[in-house]
Amino acid sequence: MAKTLFTNVKIFDGTGSRSFTGEVLVEGNRIKSVTKGGKKTPRNGAVVVDGGGATLMPGLINAHCHLSYTGSQRMSDIPPEEHTLISMHNAKTIIDYGVTAAVGAGAAKPRLDVVIRNEINAGRIPGPRFLACSPEITVTGGLGDERQMHMYHNDLSLYADGPEFIRQACRQMIREDVDVIKLMLSGDHLVPTMCDADQSAMDEDEVAAGARVAHQRGRRLAAHARNAESVKLCVKYDIHLVYHATLADEEALDLLEENKDRFWVIPAIGFTHATAYDAGDHGFSPDYAKELGFVSELEIGSETLKKMHARGIKVLPFGDYGFAWTPHHEMARDFVHFANYLDMKPGEILRAATSYGAEAFGKPDELGQVTPGFLADLIMIDGDPLADLTLFQDADNILMIMKDGAYHKPPLAPRSFAQPAAAE
Ligand SMILES: [Zn+2]
Repeated sequence: MAKTLFTNVKIFDGTGSRSFTGEVLVEGNRIKSVTKGGKKTPRNGAVVVDGGGATLMPGLINAHCHLSYTGSQRMSDIPPEEHTLISMHNAKTIIDYGVTAAVGAGAAKPRLDVVIRNEINAGRIPGPRFLACSPEITVTGGLGDERQMHMYHNDLSLYADGPEFIRQACRQMIREDVDVIKLMLSGDHLVPTMCDADQSAMDEDEVAAGARVAHQRGRRLAAHARNAESVKLCVKYDIHLVYHATLADEEALDLLEENKDRFWVIPAIGFTHATAYDAGDHGFSPDYAKELGFVSELEIGSETLKKMHARGIKVLPFGDYGFAWTPHHEMARDFVHFANYLDMKPGEILRAATSYGAEAFGKPDELGQVTPGFLADLIMIDGDPLADLTLFQDADNILMIMKDGAYHKPPLAPRSFAQPAAAE
């Protein structure tokens, strides 16, 4: 079995806020051992990689990933053939920036996530471990319903009204082999014709029907849930991936706190920030974005998310990258947003981006940590990310990327070098 020993590295293991000097031995696709301080790991035929003082840490885990979002305004106009290729390129971009596992959060066409996941798993294209998601399942006039009366067809979302049709939409997508069902419980400020952020779009019987089908068939559930009622419905119906939750009230926070080991909040605050301040070239001037409610959403959301973090509710970075004003390669901007808007410390942010991400992914005992026995999904950063969270924004700072024990990006000289081990 192939063995690789990373030496002369600082290790951030994903579980705490401190990093330590040490060595990590990878055997096959698993982490075999982790040593601290000057203790030497027996070489025993391992290829030795000298990290030159770089930081070795778990690969990042994005639990709110729209892999098929293309950065164009109307994704429903892109033919499926082109759309598949763009999604393939996005998968490469995402792992190029150190994300070794991602949870699909809504595909832009029904089978895009599924086919990309299958190709990644078959080893034919590069990309993170990936849980394929359904398109966003939404009610008429809910978030994602881009239709107007003169249009006969649009496939960005799946439209379903009433429990019967919600059930059918979920069952169809499970038949197509998604891992995750995404339901649009609340609205958003984004498009005035769609349900607003502080309103519920789906009725409780519709949420219950969709959740039941997903649970029955062993699929994970994710929800767009901004307003308080929608967050409460997530808890009531075991929708474990709660996207946004920015308008959660005290009762909703109490419910999340009581169940904090079973729910993960991925607010996508970078999207709100970018829409409020960076999207002028894309139809959202700062004044218009403010008028739509994005500035107040950011202020209220920031306070809500700070409370969540203080209560021990797990709040994770990433989410809603892939729009024109939030390109995929900028997703690590969220780390800085989390420091600024949530007052989270760098170690807490990186733990949320690794070991909490693994929980949200459904592999808490195998991913997101540099711990013996865990899968070897590792990255090496040029510098100390705990001192500079912006390092992840430049792919050149990521010196090595390993997924499942195999290099996506091998370490290069002169910073690191590999050599056959001498017999000891
Ligand atoms: Zn989203």
